[in-house]
Amino acid sequence: MELQILEKTDDYLRFIIKGVNVSFVNALRRIMLTEVPSMAIDEVVIIENSSMIRDEILAHRMGFIPLKTDLDSYNLPEECTCKSEFGCNLCRLSLTLEVEATEDVITVYSKDLQSENPDVRPVSDRIPIVKLAPEQKIKLEAYARLGKGKNHAKWQPVSMCTHKYLPQIKINAESCNACGDCVKMCPQKILVNTGEGIKTQNEIECTLCQDCVDACPKNPPAIEISWHKDAFIFNIESTGALPVERIVLEALKILDKKIVDFSKQLKVRKK
Ligand code: SF4
Ligand code: SF4
Ligand SMILES: [Zn+2]
Repeated sequence: MELQILEKTDDYLRFIIKGVNVSFVNALRRIMLTEVPSMAIDEVVIIENSSMIRDEILAHRMGFIPLKTDLDSYNLPEECTCKSEFGCNLCRLSLTLEVEATEDVITVYSKDLQSENPDVRPVSDRIPIVKLAPEQKIKLEAYARLGKGKNHAKWQPVSMCTHKYLPQIKINAESCNACGDCVKMCPQKILVNTGEGIKTQNEIECTLCQDCVDACPKNPPAIEISWHKDAFIFNIESTGALPVERIVLEALKILDKKIVDFSKQLKVRKK
């Protein structure tokens, strides 16, 4: 396996992975989407809500505020030693919100949520929750817990997780007459007419749309678009709940555990 990092920040990772098959990259993608845990608000006790938004909608909005996740300090409720449906301080955390508008209309933002653990807080201060007109008030207590995207999208740690085949572009220099039709057609500006023939640039941005092939007047076309069967470009964007590198590492750990479990069960059945 060969890995080439194209771009990496705390929240975004783009890399080329070679020497693997589509089943492997798809398993990794699906685990990141559905099985890597992150923290989200799951229960809300509304003490007062005189805003225009109903309690249910308010609770729903709160659930989708991405929270910085401390994976090392909290347990999934189903794996916590407390075995309590009310949770304990190892599997549940509370946040409070109390805002009242006095003279002007105000917007309640995610920054107004007060968390009992400063390490678990909204990833951004500027997520609007509700607007309050003068004399309207919101007072509530919210409970967050670790969960998985397969149970609810609010627990997905990624806002984007995609892969595509690594493109391969071949131009037949013998039949190509450099008419430039394919160059005009390419939406990604990958093909360039150098005056000495057609060259490619930034091939990884090719979307495999085949528009250049359709535009070629030659029969058969002088340009061929295909892809490497064992090389992929991965794009992963974190919601901010976890650093993107941690999401990939957690997904690999989960995949590894699945394979170990599978081989153990296979041995048991053979006996
Ligand atoms: S397949 Fe589409 S994106 Fe790729 S080179 Fe051809 S026209 Fe451009
Ligand atoms: S359209 Fe076909 S013949 Fe014309 S430049 Fe492109 S590859 Fe060559
Ligand atoms: Zn617990």
